[in-house]
Amino acid sequence: MMHSKIFRVNLSSGTISIEDTKQEDMERYIGGQGVAAAMFTREVPPSTDAFDPANEIIFSVGPFCGTTVPLCGRHFVLSKSPLTGLIGEASSGGFFGKELKCTGFDHVVIAGKSAKPVYILIRDGVASIKDASGLWGKGTRDTEAGIKKELGDDTVKVASIGPAGENLVRFASIMNEHDRAAGRCGLGAVMGFKMLKAIAVKGTGKAPVGNDAALKDASQKLRDLIKASPQAGAYSSFGTPAGMDSMESYGDIPVNNYRESRWKGNKGLGAEALAKRGEIKKHGCFNCPVACTGLVKHGEEFVRWPEYETLAMLGSNLLVGDLESIIRWNVLINDLGMDTVSIGAVLGAFLEAVEKGALEANLDELGFTKEVIPEKGEAYKIWGSVPAIEKLVAMIARREGIGNDLAEGTKRFVKTRSLPADLATHGKGLEVPAHEPRACDMTALDYATTPRGAYHCYMPVHLILNMNLKKDIGIDKAIDRFSANTADGKNGLDVTAEVVVKVQNAAEAYSACGGCIFGFEFVSEVTPWLAALNAITGKDRTLDDWMHAGQRLIDLKRAYSIKCGITKADDTLGPRFFQAIAKGGTKQHVPPLDQLLPRYYALRGWDPEGRPPDTI
Ligand code: SF4
Repeated sequence: MMHSKIFRVNLSSGTISIEDTKQEDMERYIGGQGVAAAMFTREVPPSTDAFDPANEIIFSVGPFCGTTVPLCGRHFVLSKSPLTGLIGEASSGGFFGKELKCTGFDHVVIAGKSAKPVYILIRDGVASIKDASGLWGKGTRDTEAGIKKELGDDTVKVASIGPAGENLVRFASIMNEHDRAAGRCGLGAVMGFKMLKAIAVKGTGKAPVGNDAALKDASQKLRDLIKASPQAGAYSSFGTPAGMDSMESYGDIPVNNYRESRWKGNKGLGAEALAKRGEIKKHGCFNCPVACTGLVKHGEEFVRWPEYETLAMLGSNLLVGDLESIIRWNVLINDLGMDTVSIGAVLGAFLEAVEKGALEANLDELGFTKEVIPEKGEAYKIWGSVPAIEKLVAMIARREGIGNDLAEGTKRFVKTRSLPADLATHGKGLEVPAHEPRACDMTALDYATTPRGAYHCYMPVHLILNMNLKKDIGIDKAIDRFSANTADGKNGLDVTAEVVVKVQNAAEAYSACGGCIFGFEFVSEVTPWLAALNAITGKDRTLDDWMHAGQRLIDLKRAYSIKCGITKADDTLGPRFFQAIAKGGTKQHVPPLDQLLPRYYALRGWDPEGRPPDTI
């Protein structure tokens, strides 16, 4: 029997307690964020607002974390999302997760609200609440440095919020090791509300393993499979920025607030441009042979290069072709503690509103400059305005002027300013990430149905490229990106719905194990991961058990979402994604969600209203 422990911290009362994770939860939901979802749905009533002391924020690591299983040093954060009002989840790589695991605890459950700024320190089996008054107002870099200095320990790992989280920016992130982000769903703002500046962890223990010899074999097999994967090789060399070079022909890249899908500026923003710029150091998370990250020279230091999502949302989406500015903004936004996807989307909505004259703003004060446009004369440069975007980023983090409205997220900003609804590119209130849903029906269905809103981490889009195959669950070949075009005699809509359900279930269980989703993509079967899980837990789960755990988790979160007020009408995306793009790789396609959703619900065993059995 595997043991797992929970630290519970109540910031209102200042109490700290320790308990064992329920065996039944681990049985049903594996561990990590799966168990976190089980605890959260039991303990936080659906009507609880994200900014309510009764809301909990849970940091978790899964059974893989800290072991020899490759690509598995991630930690996961779960809470009520200030953007969606639903369960919000985010995860981050680096070394924080491994350090938390080595304290002997898999979960830190934080409830209540402190009266003054604090941080939580966990050193092996002991937790304490420390004063963070001197850190309040500081960026995430100075916060991390300040805690290390105070503790006199440079090896402690810190996850912290910046000014954006303190100011309750609804898409605030939680940063570790300067540039690793638990970015999505605004969970940094939950910490800010709780006056919790950071969590610092230091562990000297070992991750528990049931069968060392079996795990050694399973880990080696996974390493061999990853080493043989061409996709892993490509990620190792070029990382996610390669997407800027390779995905335009599919119309996958957002351009001009998702109004177009081609832009000549993309060429200056991808892996080729980074390579040309030079001075790159490779960098990876704990126990990762791929090391998909690169560090680039920025001033006197090396900083993490902007990943694909950042390059696309701050670059092509805002028509900014200046790589240097995006590298600088990446550092700035990480330090302020915000999600680069959401901020790119809300800035896109703002620029489009200004362009269309739908929003009054003092453009000079905001840093916009004029340019001469042939046959039109002098006019403000709205798109691609580097000084204005830089100023707006800081205003959002401080909630100054128009920044206060933008800090509410795209959906709320467009609604409160009575702007056309199609400016807001979101699903259930979460900003759509940088893979265009009109470019791939699997992406659209996935975004419309994931429990946390438009979220990209299951990555069905990669199936169009023969990546992310799962042969042992019947996904054994590349899938056509447009449902109606499947040429194998089956109805393409059925194939799309079936593949999305399978990918979501398989990936949800994998996330509960605690792995980096890229690792899951590089290995074209689930079984090798299952072997690792069985070696660690000493259990004998089958592939069916794995898939059922994933389905159970999605049902659990769906049932909670329904209690939060979600109906099938919410299983959609902003109206822009049902308007065809005239030119480019989307081929004027729009996703047939109305035809896909009934198939998806039926495959999940949900009723025609999208309700799992126990919610009807
Ligand atoms: S593939 Fe990249 S993100 Fe994933 S664990 Fe390795 S370095 Fe981290």
